[in-house]
Amino acid sequence: MKYLLGRDFAFPEYLPRFPRLFKFDVIKMEAELEVDLDAGEVSGVVRYRVKAREDLRSIDLDGAEMEIVDASHEHRYDGQALSIYINMARGQEVEVWARYRARPRKGMYFVRSRNRAPMAWTQGESEDNHYWIPIPDSPNIKFPWTITVITKKPYIAVSNGVLTARRDLGDREAFTWDLKHPMSPYLLAIAIGDFERLEENCEGVVLEYYLPRGRGDGAKYSFHNTCEIMKFFSQYLGMPYPYERYAQVVVEEFIYGGMENTTMTTLTDWTLHDKHAHCPYSEFPCPGLEDFSSDPLIAHEMAHQWFGDLVTAKDWAHISINESFATFLEALWTERSLGRDEYLYEIYSNFKLYLNEYNNRYARPIVTNLYALPEEVFDRHAYEKGSVVLHTLRSLLGDEAFRRGLNLFLSRYKYKNADLEDLRKAFEEAGGRDLEWFWRQFFYSAGHPVLKVSYRGEQARLVIEQAQPDDSFPLYTLPLELEVVYKDGERAVKRVDLNERRIDISLEKEPKYFCVDPEFKLLKALELNIPLEMAGAMLEDGHVYCRIQAIDVLKKNGSRRAVELLAKALRDGFRGVAAEAARALGNIGTLDAVRALMEAYRDVKNPRTRRAIVEALGAARRREAAEFLDRVVHDPAESYYVRAEAARS
Ligand SMILES: [Zn+2]
Repeated sequence: MKYLLGRDFAFPEYLPRFPRLFKFDVIKMEAELEVDLDAGEVSGVVRYRVKAREDLRSIDLDGAEMEIVDASHEHRYDGQALSIYINMARGQEVEVWARYRARPRKGMYFVRSRNRAPMAWTQGESEDNHYWIPIPDSPNIKFPWTITVITKKPYIAVSNGVLTARRDLGDREAFTWDLKHPMSPYLLAIAIGDFERLEENCEGVVLEYYLPRGRGDGAKYSFHNTCEIMKFFSQYLGMPYPYERYAQVVVEEFIYGGMENTTMTTLTDWTLHDKHAHCPYSEFPCPGLEDFSSDPLIAHEMAHQWFGDLVTAKDWAHISINESFATFLEALWTERSLGRDEYLYEIYSNFKLYLNEYNNRYARPIVTNLYALPEEVFDRHAYEKGSVVLHTLRSLLGDEAFRRGLNLFLSRYKYKNADLEDLRKAFEEAGGRDLEWFWRQFFYSAGHPVLKVSYRGEQARLVIEQAQPDDSFPLYTLPLELEVVYKDGERAVKRVDLNERRIDISLEKEPKYFCVDPEFKLLKALELNIPLEMAGAMLEDGHVYCRIQAIDVLKKNGSRRAVELLAKALRDGFRGVAAEAARALGNIGTLDAVRALMEAYRDVKNPRTRRAIVEALGAARRREAAEFLDRVVHDPAESYYVRAEAARS
């Protein structure tokens, strides 16, 4: 039963956590706050119009480490929570307010340095907004809000929704932002600073970009695809972008890559870059030849505007609703903008990232309510593994039914909270079949299938065994495809229903090679036991995933012949395969392998392949590569990232 709990994740003393139970709904929140950038202080008044869900005697708000100056009713504050005492009958509506002051240690961050303009920004997720405003700080209560932020000139304050008023207050200015949609409290955000503002229109939606003054020049390299991404998601999900505006605010010293506050995503300034970083060897734009691109980050946060903001996980146990989807939709944008091979390689790479966490740290079910801090479930299981599970579901249902399921789920739960069961039912309706088996295997159990596949030459026989350890589902049910290419040139695709521990497949005649799950439709780890020449032949296959399988076999083999074959794969038409070949050669690390890498470097033009080659040369740790890497470091025409990789190596 280990697979139900996982391995090395939850400690024995952990107790199950459940969504918070609220005794009231918030009809509307209104706040008027003054933020003092120099003092690092926020003060003001927050008002709540609430409606009692049951008879109650107090409205309880979270509010950490603040000073409550005054409140609408008799109240008590203990440093963590504010109770406003008021007797209410079920269904009754009342307004309460609190005046407060705080010097937030979390939730709101002040960036101050000698030679730059000050800046402040907030980061609510998971539950930190209550360090700067009294609020019911839990994802499963949604309400609209209007927030007025007063700050000294010339700084501007950005927040959620639309700017409805700017008031001149002498040396200060007040900005009023109105969000009319009910949203979870962690999505409330403000950013204050000396920003340059850029604007464009994307089919009726106002796109805004706020960049620290002086850094607006590079905006196009980061943001040029924003409108295209928005249009694509709207079309794919069958639901237009749900709000009237989308701002991306670039801030300094951000603690994450990005945060999907509704209509106002915050992004790290690390994502700003120049033309040379984007397209080191070609003109901008250079689809498929980028060295660095902000697209994954922009697509991820944009995807959250639907998955996370419009529909929100009802508690952190179901964070997959937010993060698996955002990570998966990133890959969908890759598919749309760069093609199917790049998409599959991204899904494959996501699987490897998850596998790294699984192998080196822990295994847990994607959905688990056994955790101590919400941050613990924001991991490679929720993001990367979740994205591969959704990809597997898409392969199983077909794109059309999958999209119907997404649309049904979004339509049904918009402006509400949902969990993985709600998601299952939407996909069951859309796909016309029961999916409990799928959910149990992939969302509610730890681990993944491990398929050991070996070839018995004497009898032209394949043996497929499920060999996952006991931290994974004991016996997976999976529809598996098998591509067989025979020596006479015939090609066949066999469908195998994997539902036993071991399956034997006899082939009619001698195969040149075979490839398991050629289109990488399924989440699984694969251990191939096949002859070297079979792997060599598989390197010529049309499927990216088959060529990667071949590279894995050659890497383990490590012989001179394997190095020869891998050297050829360094020139593969797809850069992901070439990068995998480079890593394999770096891992083998023989003199032949190093020579092959140095030679390929000369004629490979894709910057990310070159990066992989340089990284592999570093990993090989051979004297022969040192001088070569030194030249790369000092070549100003070379890509920043290739040089940085060479310097690290
Ligand atoms: Zn995310």
